[in-house]
Amino acid sequence: MESAPQKREMFYEGKAKKLYTTSDPDLVIQYFKDDATAFNAKKRGTIEDKGVMNNRMSELFFTLLERAGVRTHFVRRLDDREMLCKRLDIVPVETVVRNIVAGSMAKRLGRQEGESLKQPVVEYYYKSDPLDDPLIYPEHAIEFGWATASEIEQIKSLALRVNQVLKRFLDERGVLLVDFKLEFGRHKGEILLGDEICPDTCRFWDKQTRQKLDKDRFRRDLGGVEEAYHEMLRRVES
Ligand code: UDP
Repeated sequence: MESAPQKREMFYEGKAKKLYTTSDPDLVIQYFKDDATAFNAKKRGTIEDKGVMNNRMSELFFTLLERAGVRTHFVRRLDDREMLCKRLDIVPVETVVRNIVAGSMAKRLGRQEGESLKQPVVEYYYKSDPLDDPLIYPEHAIEFGWATASEIEQIKSLALRVNQVLKRFLDERGVLLVDFKLEFGRHKGEILLGDEICPDTCRFWDKQTRQKLDKDRFRRDLGGVEEAYHEMLRRVES
């Protein structure tokens, strides 16, 4: 086993993760917390062992994606709650891919949750807590210098590729990939997939029953939150 660079100081604390610098300036440690928030942190709670499950699930998804040719920030999992990653200069745009109508799309456009989309829809949101992450056009990101036109093009094609790979993998495990959010960043001039991929950032439904296996159980007080995360991990590990 390669020796891990030494953990130095925390330089960022978000809602679900903390980031630490390391003795290697190109690498950071991502620490996964159990804290759960929803509706821009207006609702708060904890989900027992969420950090452990999201760390492991993200490791499995990033490994799968790397094998499929998607470059990510993932280096390796260090322990239960820590993952070694390449340091990114984050593009302040959240990319959402949708296969089935749910959440904000259902609400904004007056569509029934559960309606299948003929083609995946890619949306972009500006990462801003004070503005509640508003929906944007890619042109806004280019205009305001959040990303170049070429970066937006790469992000869109990477997001659709991630969708293809995850959708197929999950389908084989009896799970519908409803929608998900991705974050990208620059590392040595290259756009890499960052952040995490887990039930906090994706909507997963059981293919047969359409039971929710993701953070909507927490957001909507449906109960069985921990059980849903465990069930998703069990399926992804199988
Ligand atoms: N999402 C996320 N972080 C956010 C907003 C959304 O990870 O800050 C994910 C969410 O889990 C879902 C997808 O992005 O899988 C689409 O979310 P939506 O726009 O429907 O918003 P929500 O209903 O979560 O407010």
